Amino acid sequence: MRTVEIIVPPREPHFVGDGFRVHNFIPGGYRLDMKRMDPFIMLDYNSRHYFPPSEKPRGVGVHPHRGFETVTVAYKGRVAHYDSSGGGGVIDEGDVQWMTAASGILHKEYHEESFSKEGGDFQMIQLWVNLPAKYKMSEPKYQAISNGEITKYALPDGAGTIEIIAGEYRGVKGTASTFSPVHMMNAKLEKGGSAEFSFPAHFNTGLLVVEGSIKVNGGEEVPTDHFVLLENNDTDFSIQAVGENALVMVLSGDPLNEPIAAHGPFVMNSREEIIEAIEDFNTGKFGHLED
Ligand code: MN
Repeated sequence: MRTVEIIVPPREPHFVGDGFRVHNFIPGGYRLDMKRMDPFIMLDYNSRHYFPPSEKPRGVGVHPHRGFETVTVAYKGRVAHYDSSGGGGVIDEGDVQWMTAASGILHKEYHEESFSKEGGDFQMIQLWVNLPAKYKMSEPKYQAISNGEITKYALPDGAGTIEIIAGEYRGVKGTASTFSPVHMMNAKLEKGGSAEFSFPAHFNTGLLVVEGSIKVNGGEEVPTDHFVLLENNDTDFSIQAVGENALVMVLSGDPLNEPIAAHGPFVMNSREEIIEAIEDFNTGKFGHLED
């Protein structure tokens, strides 16, 4: 059985712009540097937080990315997004936005206007998925995935549902296309319900408990907003919702095992490529987007 390596509590939150109050898990403290969960190189989690009404939408202004993909998963609240390649839209509760920055993109992310005016609970994940070297300079791409489009797998005995965002579960393929083998799914478990997972042992695998609390392989209880890093010692593990219904983000990916050179919003393979990214950004090669 694949065992628990460490249970990581949420760190003190910090603000990204003025709209995202996040706990950073990757590349954070403990063992979660940019290599340990390769190809998942960054994980920011806005745990459920009430934002009061605001006439001016909160968020993050225009900024660049190169060399990887940003994946936003909305649980509560709505985000509006625009990018320099013409992609954009609203990420509603249950939706996923999979943006491939690749050779370079400018984008901005704000609370959606009517959500901002009304205020409300806000809860989101933003994940950076690294790209293999050979795809880092490919064309940017944008996958807007509404909740209705996400493949669902009904667990036996009414134990719950697996929403397969990417990868596959029990032979059922997920919705998003990826550049390397990545599994990403929301496990929605009824109280007492359990689900079993099987990923190759060398796939880096972790769980973020978004709602409720769980046990992994029947072990110690993991509360809401905690991350579970699993060992790379075996394939199979199970999770069970204890006490109430649970929602767990399940991540597993084939490590790229390539050198990482990271600087702010750019993640490349060498220092030279980072310098090139900064020069290209400074000379307007990432396109144009109004603030
Ligand atoms: Mn961004």
